[in-house]
Amino acid sequence: MAEMVSFEDIVGQKQALDVLEKAFKTKRLPHAYLFVGPEGVGKETTAKALFLKLVCHKQEGCNQCIGCRKYIKGIHPDVEILSPQGKNIKIGQIRDLERKLRFVPLEAPKRLILIPQAEYLSREAANALLKSLEEPPPYTLFILIARSTNYLLPTIVSRTQVIRFRPLSQEALKDLLINRFGKIPEEALGLSVLAEGSIGRALRISEKGYLEELSRLAHALQQPDPTFLLGLAETLANLREQLPTFLELLLVWLRQSLRAQWGLEDYPSIFPPPVPKSIIVTASHLVEESLQRLEFNVQRELNLLSLFLQLRELWNLAEKTEVSTKGASST
Ligand SMILES: [Zn+2]
Repeated sequence: MAEMVSFEDIVGQKQALDVLEKAFKTKRLPHAYLFVGPEGVGKETTAKALFLKLVCHKQEGCNQCIGCRKYIKGIHPDVEILSPQGKNIKIGQIRDLERKLRFVPLEAPKRLILIPQAEYLSREAANALLKSLEEPPPYTLFILIARSTNYLLPTIVSRTQVIRFRPLSQEALKDLLINRFGKIPEEALGLSVLAEGSIGRALRISEKGYLEELSRLAHALQQPDPTFLLGLAETLANLREQLPTFLELLLVWLRQSLRAQWGLEDYPSIFPPPVPKSIIVTASHLVEESLQRLEFNVQRELNLLSLFLQLRELWNLAEKTEVSTKGASST
């Protein structure tokens, strides 16, 4: 594993970092933080950077000392990371954690617990965790991470200090893509529009060839023969966990189409041509519904196919209406 990112490398989150830096320097860290904000804006990176400072023998995250090195290797005895096992974070994981929390930390000043996807706590696990958050041993620091406080039990939220992370500005995102990730300026500009403030999303879009798939979809939606859509649904279903990213990209395309119709922004040239105006709102709802169905584990391919066929019908209808109104106004 390479060097860990430090606070200085985190872009566009000055407010959040100021709060954390101050608490760290004055040794007034609460027993639990909740980092909320859109995906891919640096929440987990920040949590890990703070942990690095805490395990470091020099308390700065030097990357060199034995504390830093153990942490970077993932073998520091005072650090626990709780990720979903299968579909969620299970009560057994919280019980195991409780047992460990009874003992004082071995090497670091605190026992550090990171829950990067706190949305995935099962109800039983959340209730069990609540007890640890209510009466935590003084040497614990929890960091829970979620997209929004809405996904968590209010009782959990109220026992944490909430730190909000913002979407990155388009400018900050563009600079980051060029300077840290070596993208050429034109690509960085396009990606910074598409990613809507999330560096994680920008990188995934560029790596996985989602734009090509989106162009293929735009083309297939306008074909009389639905066979193309069948093939596409099958291919995209194989994206599995990454499928929401594609559907979110589809939503960005719809939003950009709408802004272009209002004459608000330059339409990104790396996108397929805009969607007809009259279908944008309905189409967005359909995509949102499909995203929701994914959460309920509806069969992916079927879910996509049903979405695509509905979009195609909408699109065809819009074109017919536009043709007939044009026809009517010319007579
Ligand atoms: Zn160190």
